[in-house]
Amino acid sequence: MAKKQFKAESKKILDLMINSIYTNREIFLRELISNASDALDKLYFRSLTDQSVGLGREDFCIRITPDPDAGTLKIEDNGIGMTEQELSENLGTIAHSGSGEFVDRNQPGDEVDIIGRFGVGFYSAFMVADRIEVRSLAFGEQQAHLWVSSGADGFTITPAEKASAGTEITLHLKPDTDTENYSEFLDSYRIMEIVKRYSDYVRYPIRMLVKSRRLKEGSESEYEDYTEDRVLNSMVPLWRRDKKEITKQQYEEFFRDRFHAFESPLGVIHQKAEGTLNYQALLYIPGRADYNYYSREFKKGLMLYSRGVLITDCCEQLLPDCFSFVKGLVDTEDLSLNISRETLQQDHQVKAIAAALEKRIKRELLAMQKDRREDYETFWKAFGLNIKYALYSSFGAKRELLEDLLLFESSGKGGYVTLKEYLDSMPEGQKYIYYAAGSDLKTLASVPQAELVTSQGYGILCFTDDVDEFVCQMLGRCGDKEFRSITGGDLGLESDEQQQETEQKQQQHREMLEFMANQLEGKVSEVKVSSSLKSHPVCLTSKGPLSIEMEKVLGSMPGAGEVKAEKVLELNGSHRVFDTLCALWPEQQDKLARYTGLLYNQALMIEGLPLEDPLAFANGICELMV
Ligand code: ADP
Ligand code: MG
Repeated sequence: MAKKQFKAESKKILDLMINSIYTNREIFLRELISNASDALDKLYFRSLTDQSVGLGREDFCIRITPDPDAGTLKIEDNGIGMTEQELSENLGTIAHSGSGEFVDRNQPGDEVDIIGRFGVGFYSAFMVADRIEVRSLAFGEQQAHLWVSSGADGFTITPAEKASAGTEITLHLKPDTDTENYSEFLDSYRIMEIVKRYSDYVRYPIRMLVKSRRLKEGSESEYEDYTEDRVLNSMVPLWRRDKKEITKQQYEEFFRDRFHAFESPLGVIHQKAEGTLNYQALLYIPGRADYNYYSREFKKGLMLYSRGVLITDCCEQLLPDCFSFVKGLVDTEDLSLNISRETLQQDHQVKAIAAALEKRIKRELLAMQKDRREDYETFWKAFGLNIKYALYSSFGAKRELLEDLLLFESSGKGGYVTLKEYLDSMPEGQKYIYYAAGSDLKTLASVPQAELVTSQGYGILCFTDDVDEFVCQMLGRCGDKEFRSITGGDLGLESDEQQQETEQKQQQHREMLEFMANQLEGKVSEVKVSSSLKSHPVCLTSKGPLSIEMEKVLGSMPGAGEVKAEKVLELNGSHRVFDTLCALWPEQQDKLARYTGLLYNQALMIEGLPLEDPLAFANGICELMV
């Protein structure tokens, strides 16, 4: 009989499994039980609309049978089963999306990662077995089939006998060696322990005949052996159990297991609602964004169960966009089982649950911000950008929900602050919330205007994400303080006296400044004496709603058209360069015009804007030197 070959990717996984020394190899049982449970779900779901299934909820079960004499372990289910074609396709092709790719990218030895991360399903059985037989009868079919494989050299499928629908998997365990023990998986107590650990919340009974001893009836000292058909799992899903009985470890294991996560979650929310809304939710705040989180492919959503049966893997309506990173599930009694995707969207119940979850998630995040700051910062680095986008694109509707979740890096003490913390730490007399937009903290600190602000002991919020400035424009103010960009003109730092002085200088040199502005026509709208410079001679600021940073952001967006901030060239009236300029006016206008160009270009460079004519600028500098 011709052997069929495994698909290329599957073969790699298979090799990995056959040669695995993975210490957690017991997870093979979890994988097989989870497949059985899926198969039961499918047939149970069918039974709701198809009389011919002839089984009630309580008839579905998974049975484990160890046979120490034969060295085999059998896992059976009376679920949907597989046809010949399904046996060939489902067990010949790796089903877990992503794991094939993962193997490609990784070196041998990284097996722990892939097994831990993806579970790799059915194939994991090859970690403990050197031969696997799968006997299956698909529901509605007459002929059963037997799939057999000893690993890498492929598999065969032949017609077989099986009385009722379902699947029976027989593992021929590898022989024990000096260092490796496989027969432990034939020990009833070991099996019970593994089932309890990984599969306790499977909603169908996992049964096993267990040999036990008991006192003989009527006797006080005589024992007898007997066999008991035991249910090994408690079946109550984790989320339906009493919070007090669940350990942190159980919550975390569930998260990693269910959501193919690597790390522990940063936060767990386990909520039971009773009253007008009846539901249980188990939500997780991950510490790391999925690889496709910030892409279009990412789909937000929670699993939705009704009375313990999975309705959908990904119900988007349950999660607002701002919290799209949350993973988890909702189980509610209030939905009918055959609710369709369309009606889900309309469903008031679902909307009401979503609203309640939104509040609850916010509460959890705030608590983390307050009590576990380091975790919150980890969270923020992963998902802060999403929150900012959500806040901005809600046009203020989500302000109340999201404003106090914001964190910004601050030049003050360094590190992240909330807006409230920034306000609370403001020295007396500080009029505005200062910010600077740019690519990173270091560049921002070197903006000429920063010096004056920080010398007053005022902190500057660093807006390093493109969206930051748009967010703060939308917020307008926080408490009674307005946001003010340090490159946005008047910083409100001068005393009345200084202000007068600046104004006087401005008046005194009005003609010269106008002359300079004319030289820069179309580039700046004004040249003026600055109130925001300390030791630097010159800077560019912006006037009006569009800042220079926003010009850069918008300029880099496709299709945004040409948008320009209205710019002002500011000169430091107390700088020696200013004296030089004054000395040129009005006799040496030529030279003044050239210097104006040089200063403007310098200011552009400091702002990180491109020079219009770098060569002319370089020549101008050289001219000065010779
Ligand atoms: P996954 O469970 O992620 O799909 P697996 O490798 O665990 O990947 O299983 C591959 C496929 O084989 C399953 O999707 C399912 O279609 C089929 N399968 C495995 N075990 C059973 C079973 N006991 N009954 C019916 N189908 C099964
Ligand atoms: Mg599986």
